[in-house]
Parts: sequence; structure tokens; C-alpha cells
Amino acid sequence: MNKIPVGVLGATGTVGQRFVQLLADHPWFEVVAVTGSDRTIGRPYGEGVNWLMSGSVPERTAGLVVRPTDLDLDIPGDPPVVFSALPTTEAKEWEPRFAAAGYAVVTNTSVFRMHSTVPLLIPEVNPDHTALIPAQQAEEGWPGFIVASPNCSTTSAILPLKILQEAFGVRTAIITTLQAISGAGYPGVSSMDIYDNVVPYIGGEDEKLQNEPTKLLGAVREGQMVRAAIAISAQANRVPVVDGHLASVSVGLERRASAEEAIAALRAWRSPAVCAQLPSSPKELLIYREEPDRPQPRRDRDAGDGLAWTVGKMRECSVLDVRYVSLTHNTLRGAASGALLNAELLAVQGYIGRDVLLANSFRQSHSNGREGVMTR
Ligand code: NAP
Repeated sequence: MNKIPVGVLGATGTVGQRFVQLLADHPWFEVVAVTGSDRTIGRPYGEGVNWLMSGSVPERTAGLVVRPTDLDLDIPGDPPVVFSALPTTEAKEWEPRFAAAGYAVVTNTSVFRMHSTVPLLIPEVNPDHTALIPAQQAEEGWPGFIVASPNCSTTSAILPLKILQEAFGVRTAIITTLQAISGAGYPGVSSMDIYDNVVPYIGGEDEKLQNEPTKLLGAVREGQMVRAAIAISAQANRVPVVDGHLASVSVGLERRASAEEAIAALRAWRSPAVCAQLPSSPKELLIYREEPDRPQPRRDRDAGDGLAWTVGKMRECSVLDVRYVSLTHNTLRGAASGALLNAELLAVQGYIGRDVLLANSFRQSHSNGREGVMTR
């Protein structure tokens, strides 16, 4: 075996399909099991799935029979690995059961994101937070573990905030999001509700936007999560855009900075060295656009294969210190691709794929030549 075998839980949904699509040609991982609901269990994936992605269902996955979500998936590995795109209720039941059975659970779902020993992870932002894994295993008595990726709206705002935190310190932030319809899954928001409209409510989203950045920008000290002391006020809005979440952010800094200094900080920033070993981490991670009307979802969401942050309009703020607009693709960077990157990081750090001989050579030799910030 020269790839790490993985299962996808909830493989027929919006995020599950993204996983299947991204994993089809992945150099390190191979899908060997897919799960679905009663609607699809027992049918070949290619027949059961209502494929919403471009192109066809990847051939090898199309032939896999959809299984129920249970512990009989027979996924080999040290530890066995599952990606979770389960609905919240199912995730709450099954993710801890998989971790207790020895699986590495790489999840997109919200249930355990703020659990104090579950790493809430973006490899380019906080790769060292995987140090929580041994504490999680000790606390829960699990041989396996759960690693979570943040909410797709948090993701859209976070990288510029991280860079400003490193350069000047961040005290406060006011975040307003304009979020795409696909963030609600399929079929999601009714067309009668969203066409010609904006819905200023997404259940639980304001709270996630206020809490998750403090964990992502916090530190792990002696196996304990210490959250960043940043006060955040957030408002999330659903807008008639198919893909791509846009965040408009004003930031209060510890040390005052001009817009020019903030832009210079974005340009000077380099992601952690480990990211050069992750095959999915984009070459251009943060694209700063000078045009006054960018970023825009339709034009910028696919930057870096949907994994880049496109940022613009960094200006001084007359209430706080600086403000910017930031955009990411919600089902790629904000969901499946983000979780896939987390799994790549876990492989490089030796938390998964220990039995796959080639993983050692991946760790030692792979480099995608990624650079930091590009300006257009
Ligand atoms: P979705 O499009 O509604 O898909 C959910 C899928 O779950 C359905 O297709 C259904 O499968 C399947 N399912 C239901 N019960 C199941 C079970 N017991 N075992 C296995 N599969 C089961 O939702 P989504 O947008 O993909 O979201 C999935 C998760 O990711 C949610 O927790 C969501 O909060 C999170 N998330 C979503 C996004 C986003 O941008 N969409 C971003 C970040 C996180 P069948 O087709 O077989 O009925």
C-alpha cells in the first residue's frame, strides 16, 4: 500500500462530494469507504449520489457501495482515517465513537470545534495546535482522536487577522460576512427566500465567528489551549451567491498601524515552513488585490484552486484601526480542502499514515515550492 486509505462519512452531501472529488487524484490518500443515509445505503456511490460537482463522479469511488455510518468500515491503517462531512446530529453521535475505536477523525463539522483539547486547525495559521492531540487522548481515554477545521465563515476572515495579530497585536474585531448559499448544504436555502434578497440570520454563525478566531489565534502551552484575548462582534448574512464567503472586517490593534503598514505586513508574511510539505497548500496563499472593487466571489473564489485568501481594501478605520475585505471558497478552503490540508499536516507530523512506507519519503522530500503573499 503506497497511499493512506481513508473513509468519507456523509460522502453524498455537498461537502462529502467535495471530499470525493478532491481525493480522486490525491497523491497521499485513497478513498476505500463511503457512508450515507438510508436514502443511499446499499447503492453504488455513482448511482446514489446526486452529483453536484463539475465533471463526473470519480470512477473508482463511483463503484464503492454506500455503507451505513458505523464502526464496521474495515479501513486499514495506523490509525485508520475518516473524513467527516456528517450532519451535526450524526457527527455528535459518531465522531467520538470513531475516536474511541482508534480512528483519526478529520472533521468539518461544528460539534467538537470548541472542545478544549480538540485542535481547531488551519495548517497555515496554527500547525502547532496538533500538540493538543495527546492531551485529548489522555483526557477522553481514546486511542484515536478528533481534529476539526473551523467554520467556513471564520476561515474567510482569519488569515489577514492572524497576520495583523503577529505584526501589531489584535484587541478587537468587528466582522460582517456575506455568505454563499452552498454553505447551507443541499438543497439549502429555498430559492424563494434567497433570490432578490439577503437573509441577515444564519443559525449559530455569529457565535462561531466570535469564538473560533480566539481559539485559532490562541496558543497551546504545556498541552493546554490558551485562547487569544480578542473581543469580536460578528454579524453573518446569507446572500444570493452560489460559492464564496466574503468577510468585511474592522480591527483594533495593540500597536497602531497605518493601512500601508498593514498591507506591508500582509506582503511580508510567510506561512509556517511545514506548509511547503503539504501538496494542497497553494503556491499563492494570500493574494492582495489593489483594485478598489475586489475581492468578489465570482471572480476570486477559485484563486489557488479554491484554497487562497483574496484580500483587498485594507484601509484605515475611523472607529477602530484598520479594515479589510477577505474572501475564501466556502466548500473548498472553508470545508473539504481545509480538512484535507489538516490530514496532510497530520501525515507530515506522523499522527497518521505511520504504516505507509512512502509517507516517510513524502515527509522528507515533498515540497510544492509555495510562496507567501502575492500582489495583483
Ligand atoms: P448536506 O449537503 O446537507 O449533506 C449532508 C449529507 O449527510 C446528506 O447528503 C446525507 O446523505 C448525509 N447523511 C445523513 N445522515 C447520515 C448518516 N447517518 N451517515 C452518513 N451520511 C448521512 O450538508 P453539507 O453542506 O455537506 O454539510 C455537512 C457537514 O459539514 C455539516 O455538519 C455542516 O455543518 C458542515 N460544513 C458545511 C460547509 C458548507 O460550506 N456546506 C462548510 C463547513 C462545514 P444522503 O445523500 O445519503 O441522504
